[in-house]
Amino acid sequence: MESVLKKYGLYQVTVPLPFRLNHVHCYLAREGEGWQIIDAGLNESKTKEAWAKAFIDYQIKSANVKNIVLTHYHPDHFGFAGSLQEWTGATVQMSQSGQVHAFSVWTEDNLAKNRRLYRKAGFPESMIDALSADDHSFYNRVRPFPSINGEIAEGQWYRIGELDFQAIHTPGHADGHMCFYNHEEKVLIAGDHLLKKITPNVSCHGYGDENPLAAYLQSLKKIQGLQIKLVLPGHGPIFTDAAERINELLQHHEERLAFVLESIKGEMTAWEVSNALFTRVLSVHEQRFAIGETLSHLNYLVAEGKIARSNVDGEDPVLYRVL
Ligand SMILES: [Zn+2]
Repeated sequence: MESVLKKYGLYQVTVPLPFRLNHVHCYLAREGEGWQIIDAGLNESKTKEAWAKAFIDYQIKSANVKNIVLTHYHPDHFGFAGSLQEWTGATVQMSQSGQVHAFSVWTEDNLAKNRRLYRKAGFPESMIDALSADDHSFYNRVRPFPSINGEIAEGQWYRIGELDFQAIHTPGHADGHMCFYNHEEKVLIAGDHLLKKITPNVSCHGYGDENPLAAYLQSLKKIQGLQIKLVLPGHGPIFTDAAERINELLQHHEERLAFVLESIKGEMTAWEVSNALFTRVLSVHEQRFAIGETLSHLNYLVAEGKIARSNVDGEDPVLYRVL
């Protein structure tokens, strides 16, 4: 696979993450003497070590890194962009919606709002402190912020390595998520929109799109219309059977939605539904993903008119019931 990528002037750089999902794939793209970087990793010393090693391996002078492209604003992709920019002097580009979230989600104000989100989801008070502390651990993992020099928008063309890619807006996993597609070789730089072994997390966290699952399913159908021969993902293996994987993910969410609907007995909080969905013991970090994922399924079912919710205002947890 490495030789195929090399032919396209692309190189995968795997950066470690301190989570159960222990890595993120970033990409280097060579254009003559100049280089571009796609996605950056978290702002951590191990990320810096991984990039320093990649620069040595590919004999890259930091001043020759011209541009950094970000598929989406999540910390494991965006977090090190500011440090990389300081290091190389490169420009940074991301979507408009990605910028809004990148600069607002990990602020004191927004992190304080998360406590209310967890309370409204029905978490016991004892867990809210742990969740909140975990949220705060991301504050420094996304700083320093980069300055953004260009906005990535649907349909724009980018020379990445030896190929021309067109930006495709694929919201769902993250608001403003962008994939990049090459029509000739049918290569998709997928960010976290399409992963082989992991189901891309689709979460509600109380900001941005209220119904990201609807957006995600629509974005999957959007790329279903493309012929894709090679997927370069943000996590897990590079793969070729995109069409099959898209079908699996569509099917997965259909089953998941049916299961959520079956799990709701009487009136339940999102936390109670989450416990029915995720039965193994979860770390605090995983609890945040689990509740986000549960809320995205609940919101989808509310929008579909299949369930109703009460206590949306006020301080009591929101309750869900089947209609
Ligand atoms: Zn992500």
